[in-house]
Amino acid sequence: MNSTHHTLFHEEQARKLPARTFDVVIAGGGTAGVVAAIAAARQGAKTILVESNGYPGGVAVEGGTAIHSFYNLWKAFPGVEKRQVVRGIPAEMIERLVGMGGCTGAPEMQHGYDYDSVCTAIDTELYKLNAFEMLAEAGVYVCVNTLLVGAIREGSALKGVILESRAGREAIYAKSFVDCTGYGDLAAQAGASFSEPNDYAVANSMGLGNVDLEKFYQYLAANDAVGDLCYGTRSGKEDLIIRLGGRSARLPEGFHRGAEEIGMTLLTTTVHDNYCMFIKLNLRLTHSPTDRDAVSQAELELRQRMRKGVTLLRQYIPGFENAFIARTSPSLCIRRGRLIACDYDISHADVVEGRHFNDDVFVYGFHDMAPRIQIKDGGTYGIPYRALCVQGLDNLYVAGMMITSDHRAHMSTRNTVSCMGMGQATGTAAALCAQQDCGSRDLSYSDLRAALVQAGVYLEAV
Ligand SMILES: Cc1cc2nc3c(=O)[nH]c(=O)nc-3n(C[C@H](O)[C@H](O)[C@H](O)COP(=O)(O)OP(=O)(O)OC[C@H]3O[C@@H](n4cnc5c(N)ncnc54)[C@H](O)[C@@H]3O)c2cc1C
Repeated sequence: MNSTHHTLFHEEQARKLPARTFDVVIAGGGTAGVVAAIAAARQGAKTILVESNGYPGGVAVEGGTAIHSFYNLWKAFPGVEKRQVVRGIPAEMIERLVGMGGCTGAPEMQHGYDYDSVCTAIDTELYKLNAFEMLAEAGVYVCVNTLLVGAIREGSALKGVILESRAGREAIYAKSFVDCTGYGDLAAQAGASFSEPNDYAVANSMGLGNVDLEKFYQYLAANDAVGDLCYGTRSGKEDLIIRLGGRSARLPEGFHRGAEEIGMTLLTTTVHDNYCMFIKLNLRLTHSPTDRDAVSQAELELRQRMRKGVTLLRQYIPGFENAFIARTSPSLCIRRGRLIACDYDISHADVVEGRHFNDDVFVYGFHDMAPRIQIKDGGTYGIPYRALCVQGLDNLYVAGMMITSDHRAHMSTRNTVSCMGMGQATGTAAALCAQQDCGSRDLSYSDLRAALVQAGVYLEAV
């Protein structure tokens, strides 16, 4: 039995809800949603952002190790030029974060550069604050601690959403909508077609305090077990380790086997001394992560795994003797929830061949399966506008991990900087649609492209 099987039902009474009107609703203030909301508001739209946590940030601040990637994979392809291919609002956020001392910028990888050429590591707490401040400066009406629970649909148009918070339920009417919930909650509520591939492990990640990274590095080096390695600015000092990965198979059998059993990856980034920002614990679910009961069990299991993980590290790995769990995600992180059917589905061939389209809204050059799967010649592929328009709905976009059915292609499109790029594209498009009173398919691509380029988005010549 799981949370979808019920035999007992209660009929809810219809209620009159207080209502408000906006131009654009951005559902979910995570990796994509923050950028989408800033983009929509800067475009002049009266924008509301709805986020269930008490802060914006999403999986970028809960799960990932590094922000992959604003650059092409130039280091893996000798002779290929280094290019910053994602710019605009995502890059502005990172530049501000660097200024706050909350990001490493983009120092070059020393080892593991056939995976990513640079390491952009963040201070998770300053990322949240920076996102919050940028949203406020852009004039976004930010509702945190607020859950989107319903959609108001008329024919093929979305008219509004239902929100729930401690202040009660309310309706928000708007002209354009962007689902950035990661799970596809708005699209599903709106009646969009979707599937739930359940093709990834879920994870919680812990930040570990009291870790001697240099000692950890010496131990890995002595065992020929250094995986990823990058030096950058840490606690304000330059040329210190900011990314370090270990090859567990070369370490004691007890550690290697124990780490495998709990899905622990020996890879971290940091911007602070004595701190491992992310150590990930992975877990395969038997049901999709939309299943509440399966997730409840997994939340407990992951916390037990974290305890085992820190115990293993203390026991076997020099540098971790006094480590403690300093941070965990408030709830488990997903790599994919619902896959929403859109007008175009980016294919594996599109990604690896580095294809561009006549409606590209940004370009991207990172693949999470590199070096096994790489984008041709260290180049980029384009994200077409159509890939973000939800099938069967006139005024709903999706941005983030909800697109791309092919697992291999999704291993590129789901990464943070790609999600941020989708955010800028959809937020801008939603604002233009609201201003022109048109649906997503009636928006002129040249208008959208001009607005994106004006806001600093980089596009390749086709
Ligand atoms: C464990 C893990 C490690 C990863 N490591 C990396 C990495 O190292 N580098 C990298 O580039 N990428 C990494 N990724 C991938 C990347 O971080 C994510 O794919 C990306 O951040 C997803 O962005 P998103 O905007 O789609 O979703 P999210 O960032 O999850 O944003 C969704 C937001 O919507 C909110 N929300 C959800 N439902 C509702 C609702 N009904 N009402 C209101 N709010 C709602 C959530 O609270 C959240 O803030 C990792 C992913 C995971 C899970």
